[in-house]
Amino acid sequence: MGAEILLDKHMYKKPFHGRSNGSHSNRPFSNRGPSHGGQRGGNRGGRGNFGSYIDPSKFINKAVITETVEHFVPEHKFEDFKIGEGIKRAVIAKGYKAPSPIQDRVIPYILQGQDVVGLANTGTGKTAAFLIPLIDKVINDPKKQVLIIAPTRELAIQIEQELKSFTKGMKIYSVCCVGGANIVPQIRQLRFLNNFVIGTPGRLKDLISTGKIILANYSTLVLDEADRMLDMGFIVDMRFIMAGMPKPRHTLLFSATLSPEIEKLIKEFLHEPVRISVKSRDTSKNVDQDIVRVMPGKNKLDVLRDLLSQKEFSKVLVFGKTKHGVEKLSKLLIERGFKAESIHGNKNHSKRQQALKQFKENQLQVLVATDVAARGLDIADVSHVINFDLPATYDDYVHRIGRTGRGDKLGKALTFIE
Ligand code: AMP
Repeated sequence: MGAEILLDKHMYKKPFHGRSNGSHSNRPFSNRGPSHGGQRGGNRGGRGNFGSYIDPSKFINKAVITETVEHFVPEHKFEDFKIGEGIKRAVIAKGYKAPSPIQDRVIPYILQGQDVVGLANTGTGKTAAFLIPLIDKVINDPKKQVLIIAPTRELAIQIEQELKSFTKGMKIYSVCCVGGANIVPQIRQLRFLNNFVIGTPGRLKDLISTGKIILANYSTLVLDEADRMLDMGFIVDMRFIMAGMPKPRHTLLFSATLSPEIEKLIKEFLHEPVRISVKSRDTSKNVDQDIVRVMPGKNKLDVLRDLLSQKEFSKVLVFGKTKHGVEKLSKLLIERGFKAESIHGNKNHSKRQQALKQFKENQLQVLVATDVAARGLDIADVSHVINFDLPATYDDYVHRIGRTGRGDKLGKALTFIE
């Protein structure tokens, strides 16, 4: 049987980020009501638009970062890992000083060729946790081919970008096979040997079914955000892909949660995996969360405009419930003079990527997004997440606010309550 290792995510903050803060209690604006007012537990305001009632008090949480909970001492330095000098240099060049907990524990097992179940959210460094040892594998065997399956095209693209940032000049080849993007260039690239094929389940299945991807060539598989893939209904495609892969193979599964369905997949498709868990609280500790009460007769858009006019609202991700609403809100903000864009499922792939790029590169102040479009996105320095519309579920809320307070930053999340 595989071993099980548990870590507390918040224990690693200090060495990972080299920082220690006191509790944070800035309250930058005045147009919101008391945070802990009488509405808590009431039945107004907290109903997600398609979901169940969420107690508004759950949207309030002062960020507290203390020395004691931050202390995590990694067992390894990057220099200690048995990986090539080239990849070590690339990791250092990226500015990573010490391995994050998931990297600290997972990398040695992956290097040994063991199957791994990693329980970790985005923001824990899980992408590099599997990429670094797998790149090393490929350097040692340039014919090696790795298949990485991710739930969304944005996440798949992000993984490929991270891969490329580690492998500059190394003659390591990759292709990103995601739905919504033109399949022709993907097919063209698949004619050559690719060390890493990264894709979403549906598109991968299409490419396998038409013989463009030969599964027999792939002896290493990564399932990233497996729980989300199940949530999104990809189970049939995932099974199809895994069933066609060679055995034995090297399989790594990452997931934020462990449901009975995930356990079933693990039992069926992984071989005596080591389980490593970076436990996280239900909401991010370094995100300062509060509500903004929109008083009767007040317009939500005006309240948003007043917030966005404040200097500290420099890079703001605003969440809306529908694709249409998100599009409309971004247009209204542009009309009011804000540099804003939208990202949602009605936009084609290249437009979404363009909006994301502009936001990442600080050319926009505001990105208005739907939940699905923004899941798993890793954007540096988001100053605020604003829930213009309530999330449908508390889980969605946690995903939303996780877009701020990343890396060594303290984030802020505000939820509009009418
Ligand atoms: P992920 O959880 O893979 O989405 O990673 C979250 C962010 O942490 C990304 O921007 C990574 O580049 C960054 N990151 C990953 N590992 C480290 C590390 N050891 N030190 C500093 N930053 C890291």
